[in-house]
Amino acid sequence: MNTSSSATRRPVSIAALGECMLELQGQAFGTLRQSFGGDTLNTAVYLARCGGAGLQVHYATALGDDSLSAGLLERWAAEGVLTGLVQRLPGRLPGLYLIELDEGGERRFHYWRGQAAARSYFEAAVTALEAQADALDALYLSGISLAILPPAGRERALALMARMRASGKLVAFDNNYRPRLWESVADARDWYQRAFAAATVALITADDHQALHGLADLDAAVAAAQALPVAEIAIKRGALPARVGLHQIWQDVLTESVPRVVDTTAAGDSFAAGYLSRRLRGGAPAEAAAFGNRLAARVIQHPGALIPREAMQDLIG
Ligand code: ADP
Repeated sequence: MNTSSSATRRPVSIAALGECMLELQGQAFGTLRQSFGGDTLNTAVYLARCGGAGLQVHYATALGDDSLSAGLLERWAAEGVLTGLVQRLPGRLPGLYLIELDEGGERRFHYWRGQAAARSYFEAAVTALEAQADALDALYLSGISLAILPPAGRERALALMARMRASGKLVAFDNNYRPRLWESVADARDWYQRAFAAATVALITADDHQALHGLADLDAAVAAAQALPVAEIAIKRGALPARVGLHQIWQDVLTESVPRVVDTTAAGDSFAAGYLSRRLRGGAPAEAAAFGNRLAARVIQHPGALIPREAMQDLIG
C-alpha cells in the first residue's frame, strides 16, 4: 500500500468493524453512570484522535433507531469518527453491559449482547462497508468483531478482508479472544486461522493467543504468534517489550515505564490505534510500535477505556 504518497494527495481512510455497547457502571440498584465501550470503537476513537486531518476513520456497525443508538452516533461523531457506514435497524437495540463495583471496588462484568443490533450488520444484501470498500485504504477488525457475527456474517467479513487485501490495502486483525462469545474453542481456532490468512497485519495480545491455543506459557504464545502466516505482526505482552515483525524481521520495542497503572482497559485497543496511525502514514513498524506503547502507557494511567482528550494532547499535538 502506497500510503506515504497518497497521504500528500488526500486523507488516508480506515474503517473499523465491530460492536460498541452501552455501558452502565456502579452498584446494582444504586446510581449507575452511563457510557459506552467496545474494543474496535475504542481503537476507532484513538485512531481519529491520533490521525488528525490526514486520517479519516469510519466505524462500521449496526444500531437501532432508538434514542440510545442516536446518542451513540452523536458521541462517536463528536470524537471525529465518521458514521456513514453504520446501519440503523428499526426496532433493534445496542448491546449493554454493566460493570458492577463490589464493596472492595472489584469490577464484575455482566453482558446483555445476545440480541444486539451489531450482530445483524451483514443481514443487508450489501452493507455500506462493502459498497464503499474500494474507496477505503484500510480495514480493522478483531476476534470480537467476528465472534458476535453469525457464521454467514463472518463469511462476509472474511470475504471483505480477502477482497481488500487482494487490492493491496491494509487489513488488520486484532486477536482479542473472549472464549464466552464462541461456541467452542475449536470453532474459534478455525475462524481465527481464516482471519489471519486474510489479514496483512496481525495485532496479537500474547495472553489471548496463549488462551486460544492452550499453550503452556507466554513464551510459547509469542513463538506461535511469530509463526503466523501474516506478513506483519505486532505482539503485545503487557509491560514487556512489544515484538514487531515485517516479513519475519523482528524487533523488540520497549514499553514506557508507568509509575502507577490505574486501569488497563483499552491498553491493547489504544496500542492498535497508535500503531496503525503511524503505519498508515508510512512509519516503520518499530516506530509505529513505539508510538503504540506511548499511547497505551498514557491510557492505562487514567480510568476508563477512553481517557480525556486533554490527557493525551501532547502525544497527538
Ligand atoms: P491487552 O490490553 O490487549 O491485553 P496488553 O496488556 O499486552 O494488551 O497491553 C497492550 C499494551 O499496553 C502493551 O503493548 C504496552 O504498550 C502497554 N502496557 C500494558 N501494560 C503496561 C505496563 N504495565 N507498563 C507499560 N505499558 C504497558
